[in-house]
Amino acid sequence: MTTQSQPAVRIEDHIPAAPEAEEWDVVVLGAGMGGSTAGLEVARRGGRVLFIEKGKFLHGDPLKRQISPDVGEGEEAWAAEERLIMGRWPLPVRGWSSFGDVEFYAPLGCGSGGSTIIYGAQLERFAPSDFHPKEHFPDVPDASVVESWPITYDELVPYYRRAEALFNISGTPDPLNPDPEAVLRTPPPLGERDQHLFDTFSESGLHPYRSHVGYHKLDNCDECLDLCLRNCKSDAGRDCLVPALREHGASMLPESEVLRFEASRSRVESVRIVRKGVESSIRAKVFVLGAGSWGSPVLLLRSNSSEWPDGLANSSGLVGRNLMLHTSDFMTIDQRELRSEAGPRKSMALSDFYIDGKEKLGTLQSVGLPLIAPFIREYLRYALEKDPRWWCRFVEPRLETVARIGERLSRRASLLSTIVEDLPYPDNRVQVDPSAPNGRSFTYTYPAELARRSRRLLKLVRGRLGRRYPLRVVTGGRNNLNYGHVCGTCRFGDDPATSVLDRTNRAHDLDNLYLVDSSFFPSSGGINPSLTIAANALRVGGIIHERL
Ligand SMILES: Cc1cc2nc3c(=O)[nH]c(=O)nc-3n(C[C@H](O)[C@H](O)[C@H](O)COP(=O)(O)OP(=O)(O)OC[C@H]3O[C@@H](n4cnc5c(N)ncnc54)[C@H](O)[C@@H]3O)c2cc1C
Repeated sequence: MTTQSQPAVRIEDHIPAAPEAEEWDVVVLGAGMGGSTAGLEVARRGGRVLFIEKGKFLHGDPLKRQISPDVGEGEEAWAAEERLIMGRWPLPVRGWSSFGDVEFYAPLGCGSGGSTIIYGAQLERFAPSDFHPKEHFPDVPDASVVESWPITYDELVPYYRRAEALFNISGTPDPLNPDPEAVLRTPPPLGERDQHLFDTFSESGLHPYRSHVGYHKLDNCDECLDLCLRNCKSDAGRDCLVPALREHGASMLPESEVLRFEASRSRVESVRIVRKGVESSIRAKVFVLGAGSWGSPVLLLRSNSSEWPDGLANSSGLVGRNLMLHTSDFMTIDQRELRSEAGPRKSMALSDFYIDGKEKLGTLQSVGLPLIAPFIREYLRYALEKDPRWWCRFVEPRLETVARIGERLSRRASLLSTIVEDLPYPDNRVQVDPSAPNGRSFTYTYPAELARRSRRLLKLVRGRLGRRYPLRVVTGGRNNLNYGHVCGTCRFGDDPATSVLDRTNRAHDLDNLYLVDSSFFPSSGGINPSLTIAANALRVGGIIHERL
């Protein structure tokens, strides 16, 4: 399954000399999963596209990745620059959650590809039931669960298939949500340990399938869950942004931060950006916002004016609200015999527990991280940052020891994790906060019903597997918010009073502003979000092309 690596791109060849001098067909703000995919679709059909991205262009020659000459003075500036070189958002995220005040480096990408630079590339479809959220949550007090998405699963299916091909996904069909025309390559054989686990799942009456993973396999691929230096992981930079630049004439301004929009009552006229310390305005017929669920709503709120006193496109008052995360509990499943762990690590998933009676829970899937001390230590460090409660403070001085014990205990174990759907609550939100890093903060109350459903999923897994395998839950249903799966802060819908965007992802309030990152989700599903972001961005890219 070896494929050729792409030749390195020289980004200098794609940076326009005077971007402010012309009116672009489409300017895409943020080159992550949504932005890069929508931009590719418009460029592929002939539109003149300019991508503007805060982070670096990371898909050139890895050996030429450099410290910017414009790094400010002081340790913090250098730390931020180092994070940017590794494709990470440079500043911590501040917020208040039910666990107290937190300020930590959220798992958030920055640069060509956005968060897909550091993601796991598990690219799964939402289930048809995800498009009718209320059916499984008919009566949750305070949550703003919508009856249905403004588009149906069937409308998205052709775009799911295109996205599966675009990201070169391998896997086997989910027996509980099959599509005979899904575009899935045959995955490499499982290793001995995971094959045994897979067989046991099947014997227990469950329906495991091979995870849907986006990799352009090269020999000795490491299945990076991080910046992939050998260019084999499918990500939005490699598979969308680079082809848009190289094959379809698109342009890019990397290391350029969007500050705010300049808009009349009906249209965005230009976007204000800062590049190398110099501010300028960029004009376009259509603006496509893809700055992520933390970033996009804050840009809209910050673009307030006399025309838009409550923030741009915010006549519903919902910009920034209904912030959703998933919960993910990590568990190790021990085998009695020592079996070889060689083989693909992102190996299997199952959706048997997706719906429990009338209620939706979520999915179970292998994580793809080796259970070795450095990874365990990093995970614990991150878990500690996002939950400052007492038991974490106990662990802190003993991190190294705990990680080494963890490694020793896990010699026969596979690492799996759950993903449980989070519901939208209007008071869970991202807001402008001039005192916080990035000028924004979040508020998130952990709902009791989410804790209960997360525990319920663990109980069901234990019930099915616990007798056959010792099963250790690492997070124990606490400190399990998945900040990498943020979504929902500018939901789409048919009613302008209860949604920010219409069914084409255009702002209800403005003629030429589209939003394609995960903030459009009206519900979060119980599964990985990226394929749905990409499929929808292909759909929206086509709609934008039609109007140009
Ligand atoms: C560690 C990790 C593992 C994950 N694993 C998976 C997985 O296996 N499967 C899956 O489906 N999902 C996974 N995800 C989630 C997935 O990566 C995100 O859901 C997805 O990338 C979100 O796409 P987006 O378009 O909303 O935003 P992003 O991809 O985050 O892109 C937003 C972009 O906008 C840029 N930006 C923000 N503000 C500005 C500004 N003011 N000016 C200019 N640019 C700006 C950012 O730098 C970034 O490049 C994972 C995430 C993480 C962090």
